[in-house]
Amino acid sequence: MGTSRSIFTFALFLVLPVGARAQDNPAEKKPTTLEKIITLHLPHASGPVPVYYSPGFEARALKYQKSLIACQQWYGKQVGKHVDFTLAVLNKADWERATPVEYPMPHNMGVYQSSPPPVVILPARFEDFPHSAGFTYDPELLVENISYHELGHVYAHFIDMETDDNLLAEIYANIFMVSFVRSQRPDMLFFLQGPTAKLPPERYTSLEDLQYLAGDVRND
Ligand SMILES: [Zn+2]
Repeated sequence: MGTSRSIFTFALFLVLPVGARAQDNPAEKKPTTLEKIITLHLPHASGPVPVYYSPGFEARALKYQKSLIACQQWYGKQVGKHVDFTLAVLNKADWERATPVEYPMPHNMGVYQSSPPPVVILPARFEDFPHSAGFTYDPELLVENISYHELGHVYAHFIDMETDDNLLAEIYANIFMVSFVRSQRPDMLFFLQGPTAKLPPERYTSLEDLQYLAGDVRND
């Protein structure tokens, strides 16, 4: 997402000459991701991390909410800063009305993409991800794990760990996730041991490959 962030910054520079007022810029009037989600009139639950969810997925949404509240509290304690954000657990139809990111890829909005406030968006059914069975026997647990990474991006932003380097941005988010898992979620340690044997062998494995491909690393 370093790339998208750079493009976004550059685009702002183009459309916002010095002295321009925000209300003069039509782009500023676009609804935020949270506003789009609220417009869907979904069931929701309040709490330290408010959650909106597609009908039929209350149990899963509340599970992810509880999981992310624990993560929020832990990150906050480590960095000395509390960050408010909203969680959305969406089915494909609601997802496509709320975010441009392809379903069902967990991601964050309102920090690097779109205007604040921050939102972590998780799929109601990660089982819909192609070959998801190859990634894990437990899609809920995997989505919880990825949500810690997404929240890591949000926290990295709020403690000024900014970078235009896509790869570094992913590493920052992973430092948060890995630290939390090692400290609080021993049941997720196996996610840190690399891809499962069910997936085909990695095509790119060297540091040279990594450097060459880093330009294509996305901030999801
Ligand atoms: Zn990421």
